Amino acid sequence: MDLYEHQGKELFARFGIPVSEGRVATTPEEARRAAEELGGPVVVKAQVLTGGRGKAGGIKLADGPADAELKAAEILGLDIRGHVVRRLWVERASDIAAEQYLSVTLDRGAKQPLLMFTTEGGVEIEQVAAENPEALARVHVDPLVGYQPTLGRELVGDRPEVLELVEKLYRCFTECDATLCEINPLIITPAGEVRALDAKVTIDDSALFRHPDIAEWRDTSAADPLEAFAREKGVTYVKLDGDVGILGNGAGLSMATVDVVVVAGGRPANFCDLGGGGSAEGVVNALEVIARDAQVRSILFNIFGGITRGDEVARGILVALDQVGLEVPIVVRLDGTNAEEGRRILAEAAPPNLQIEPTMLDAARRAVELAG
Ligand code: GDP
Ligand code: MN
Repeated sequence: MDLYEHQGKELFARFGIPVSEGRVATTPEEARRAAEELGGPVVVKAQVLTGGRGKAGGIKLADGPADAELKAAEILGLDIRGHVVRRLWVERASDIAAEQYLSVTLDRGAKQPLLMFTTEGGVEIEQVAAENPEALARVHVDPLVGYQPTLGRELVGDRPEVLELVEKLYRCFTECDATLCEINPLIITPAGEVRALDAKVTIDDSALFRHPDIAEWRDTSAADPLEAFAREKGVTYVKLDGDVGILGNGAGLSMATVDVVVVAGGRPANFCDLGGGGSAEGVVNALEVIARDAQVRSILFNIFGGITRGDEVARGILVALDQVGLEVPIVVRLDGTNAEEGRRILAEAAPPNLQIEPTMLDAARRAVELAG
């Protein structure tokens, strides 16, 4: 789950990382009131789950309440890389002497958290990494040993004020089950104080149950309504923009099914993973989700029985067809444990809009044909 900047800053503050005082606003009037309360010049910042807001005109300085109202009106409704601005963060403006960069990410290759720091902050970090790689310090943290001050010194050198932040950011990262905590820019004020001027935080979805307060921050209005419905039903579902609905058991097979549909000349409407179970209830839930997508013209049901038994899946499909009342044609490829019995069950019931194909490629071709 990606957090908005203002949410990330709220987390940072809990761990003692200095941030500017600010307010959320959703209208120009609220932005004016926020500026009145804060006093002095403010920055009006678009809250969207994408970077590069500054360049896109989503971040503007305002010298007072009236100006903040004006700037807010300019920013609200902007489309920044496909994200429409509906929320603003108005914070007390900072004076900047230097812009630096500090982050903790999960280095999946090394299976360890990775600390990164550079004094060349403000710009996109990929640019620094590409043009001036030696300016980007990288230090891994052994998760079994945990953070040690020596690691921080290796990372930032002789910068005591930044050193303190490294430890706090690392604590934020681990205690919140984050996969990313990034401060860009980390500013040094003319008075020598450090402050996180931006916050980019991603929390591991699988750990959200341990952080109900953070989970509550999820902005359901920004999410695809179908994906929200799927989450409610406990179905792993990602909406794509084609017309062949896809249902597989297991993430690997489901992804392969997406690929095979493309190979067969079609366009997948979604990725949907039934998981290991394949119980009737699971099939009903998944089909219910897919059936809600008006773009779907056919459904490819690709099952490989391992622990999942083919006969059970077949019964699940029949129950689901009964309950969901699907209009679109369904092509089934069923293989593995008890596949023969599963196919026999389906052939006997012979629902009018269901076809069985012997191989994955045959099934994909048939589903693509039916969608066209
Ligand atoms: P991003 O473009 O989405 O990464 O948004 P940031 O929050 O990082 O802001 C982009 C840039 O706006 C920063 O690098 C700063 O140069 C500038 N900026 C943001 N807040 C302030 C502020 O309070 N004062 C000043 N002077 N500049 C700011
Ligand atoms: Mn930034």
